[in-house]
Amino acid sequence: MKKDDLVILNIDDMSTEGEGIGRVDGFAIFVKDAVKGDLVEAKVMKMKKQYGFARLMRVIEPSPLRVEPRCPHARRCGGCQLQAMSYAAQLGFKADKVWNNLQRIGGLTDLERPEIMGMEDPWRYRNKAQFPFGTDREGRIVTGFYAARSHTIIPCTECLIGVEENRPILEKIISHMEKYHIPAYDEQSGKGLLRHVLIRKGFATGELMVCLILNGRKFPAMEQLVVSLRELPGMTSISINVNTQNTNVIMGSETIPVWGQAYITDKIGDIRYQISPRSFYQVNPVQTEKLYRTALEFANLTGDETVWDLYCGIGTISLFLAQRAGQVYGVEVVPEAIADARRNAALNRIGNVEFFVGKAEEVLPEKYEREGIHADVIVVDPPRKGCDEAALQTMAKMQPERIVYVSCDSATLARDVKRLGELGYEVRKVKVCDMFPQGVAVEAVALLTKSGDISKTASGSLKS
Ligand code: SAH
Repeated sequence: MKKDDLVILNIDDMSTEGEGIGRVDGFAIFVKDAVKGDLVEAKVMKMKKQYGFARLMRVIEPSPLRVEPRCPHARRCGGCQLQAMSYAAQLGFKADKVWNNLQRIGGLTDLERPEIMGMEDPWRYRNKAQFPFGTDREGRIVTGFYAARSHTIIPCTECLIGVEENRPILEKIISHMEKYHIPAYDEQSGKGLLRHVLIRKGFATGELMVCLILNGRKFPAMEQLVVSLRELPGMTSISINVNTQNTNVIMGSETIPVWGQAYITDKIGDIRYQISPRSFYQVNPVQTEKLYRTALEFANLTGDETVWDLYCGIGTISLFLAQRAGQVYGVEVVPEAIADARRNAALNRIGNVEFFVGKAEEVLPEKYEREGIHADVIVVDPPRKGCDEAALQTMAKMQPERIVYVSCDSATLARDVKRLGELGYEVRKVKVCDMFPQGVAVEAVALLTKSGDISKTASGSLKS
């Protein structure tokens, strides 16, 4: 088999990145946009020693799991890798992905297939979007999304998993740039001004945030743009973020408020949250509530416990837990997020929380070893790379009754629960939450208790 060969493939599996997998002469061939159960014709693009990549040319016989993608850009877009799969099939794929990782990497061979919490309406769920800006061949300003595995911008202001307000906001910014001859940033030369536009919406409040990420500090005729953006109902916060570095990181460290509040407000359950442009906030508020309720259920609090919430962001989970705990401590590395977290505690009149700025793997050992602070329950919600070894070790040393691990990457979750297993903690329950319908990413929550301590769990989901 070589490049440009046409092959007929029976797609009998899916990769964790959502590609269909077919086999020829023992070679696994990865085909983007092919669905498990399809019979397809594909063109070989690249061959490695053991496997290859091919481009979907034609679906000969569609899989029963296949649906017509709703978005016309689904095939070129780098997001929504599963749009050609029915939503029910997407949920099955995700439950299996978490299950497989926990068995294969985590060594949890006795675990039953975890339950997955899906959405009733798996569209327009994202409260946040970051649109890259650029210039097309004709010299026109464009915005949209990056094509798969590239930084080529496909023009599109209408993303079906984003809010409807994205489109008028982007159109206003483009016409402003055309009127005042403002150049978009160019990654190659490092010249030009507008890099990205961040848009956030508070689903419970209707409040809108627009943040222009600039290769500079000033946007020409900003007052006129503000007047125009304010025509949109809900506009609450307009700001500029400065990023003059030649980097793939979208936002820089300095944010300059331009109009309105420096944050927007949203609500999850009974708790109100103020969110700054740079703070992490879960992108799917409907599913976030289910996720946090699961974390709270797994924490099984009675009202007296000391709880640590590591990687706490703006204190979302901390404040959720504080309603049922004695004392909650939150740890987060981004200072603005901790400022938000403290404001959010005050806003909700929650007094039994304290927040620390710093790395979990540094703050936790310090507080435990120097100040002897203990933990009845530890909740962690780390970024994709998972927890640092020092954090895991200290967690185990603190001997909490329960560890609740909220994870956005089941491969690192599996690695970390394996390590916690060596340190004396066993997984009792796992639930999966579909925070990202149409895409491959998936969120999971695991409950761990001390090994041998099975009486502590409400209902074990282990077979044994
Ligand atoms: N629990 C929060 C945030 C989870 S996202 C929520 O549900 O909204 C993970 C958070 O971890 C981010 O806010 C990120 O800034 C933070 N973070 C990343 N590395 C960290 C580290 N080493 N120590 C503490 N926080 C970290």
